[in-house]
Amino acid sequence: MGGVLSRRDLIRILGASGVAAGLGGISAASAADAASTDDPDAFQGSVIKPQVIQPTGSCPALVGGKVIQPRRELPVLGQTDVLVVGGGTAGVAAAVAARRAGAQVTLVERYGHLGGQWTGGLVLVVVGHIVKGGKQVCQGIGEEMLGRLDKLGGAIIDRQPGANPTVDAEALKYVMVEMVQEAGVKTLLHCWGVDAVLDGNTVRGAVFESKSGRQAILAKIVVDATGDGDLLAAAGAAHQRCKYNIGLVSRIGNLDKIDKARAEGLKEPRGLGARTPVPGVRWVNMSGPEADGLDVSELSRLEINHRRFIWQSVQKIRGTRGYEAVRLLETAPQLGVRVTRLLEGVTRLTLRDFKAGIRFEDVVAVGGAVAANHAEWQIPYRALVPKNSVENVLAAGRCISAELKMADMIRVIPICWVTGQAAGAAAAVAVADACPARQVNVAKLQQLLKQQGAYLG
Ligand SMILES: Cc1cc2nc3c(=O)[nH]c(=O)nc-3n(C[C@H](O)[C@H](O)[C@H](O)COP(=O)(O)OP(=O)(O)OC[C@H]3O[C@@H](n4cnc5c(N)ncnc54)[C@H](O)[C@@H]3O)c2cc1C
Repeated sequence: MGGVLSRRDLIRILGASGVAAGLGGISAASAADAASTDDPDAFQGSVIKPQVIQPTGSCPALVGGKVIQPRRELPVLGQTDVLVVGGGTAGVAAAVAARRAGAQVTLVERYGHLGGQWTGGLVLVVVGHIVKGGKQVCQGIGEEMLGRLDKLGGAIIDRQPGANPTVDAEALKYVMVEMVQEAGVKTLLHCWGVDAVLDGNTVRGAVFESKSGRQAILAKIVVDATGDGDLLAAAGAAHQRCKYNIGLVSRIGNLDKIDKARAEGLKEPRGLGARTPVPGVRWVNMSGPEADGLDVSELSRLEINHRRFIWQSVQKIRGTRGYEAVRLLETAPQLGVRVTRLLEGVTRLTLRDFKAGIRFEDVVAVGGAVAANHAEWQIPYRALVPKNSVENVLAAGRCISAELKMADMIRVIPICWVTGQAAGAAAAVAVADACPARQVNVAKLQQLLKQQGAYLG
């Protein structure tokens, strides 16, 4: 071919070297995708290794009607100082906090994006970071996320009394990836944490299922930011298992195309939701019924029912004169699970303490007013640490130690970001001091959190 490269050859070479040179920053893969639009021959693959079909000996066996999992050694994918399981609000804050404090951090997330309920659940409104009088008490890494979103036009930052910031989920996914990458957090997506690795009663890592199979990651400290306390439960940490309302959030569009003249005199249809940063698009919350968010049959049933309900609700809106243009844009990729497991920590947050305005010497986070207009309240480090003797695992986010009556306080987004930051910073202090997470020097932790922009009252 006289040294002249075809487009296909060029893409192959760039793909092999992993370099995007000459394509103006476009990766070889995206160049291939772009090429495919007008070149039916553009896609290509290569054999990594020939397929060997033989029993591996690790498959569960049916023995006497029971499914028996044979004992086997698991490949260790890596070692890290701090392993954060779950990449939602709390997990991202924990990972960034720990890494910025100098620890090596690995963050694993079961889905293909970060943000958990805040992005994948389409829970777009941030409540609970401000108290009576307008003071903002949830600061730090979460506030940095809001600031970055604001600069990108990815949020409506409204902190007037009665109003709350609203984010764009896609902008937030972008910001979260930027933040973990800038910090140097090793991030693994599509990785489902299924078990704890134990050395006696000390957690030494976690086991994951992914397309790569079952693997382990070893760690000095594990932060459970799964929202459901999956790792805490696997490690044997005492907890309460709860039922709570499970909904499904959706976004509807073309609200700017409502024909107000035609709709004149009609009552506004229900389910029009609240504004988002995207013009003409609103998000629609849903309480849903009380259910067990750890029961796969329940989750499946709710997912199916909620989707049907949302579709039919939007059709009703579209059937209203003047509202014909309204469209269902998306149902949230993640079901709206609110509360499942609550850790039994060394200290448990109670409504009584909250009402009494109890202050804690080991305060590591402060919460604001959620529904009513009340004063700030404190979260002690001991609410992140298991009560029974399971070592080196910390809770962050909506599964921290609290009685169920406090669930609506602890599960809101800002509380998840402040408890995430606290758990991540604590893990980094424990690693630096080579001490168990339970014995972290709290004064040092508080100082670190303040340096990281947190407000502790
Ligand atoms: C319908 C609904 C409406 C809400 N409305 C509001 C509101 O208006 N304002 C407000 O502030 N809050 C609201 N909340 C609460 C708030 O959205 C959540 O409680 C908060 O976002 C939880 O953050 P988190 O990081 O603790 O957990 P999650 O967001 O649940 O994040 C957990 C992450 O861990 C991952 N994960 C789970 N298990 C595993 C595993 N085993 N291995 C690996 N990864 C795992 C998940 O995929 C997820 O990314 C609402 C919640 C719901 C469901």
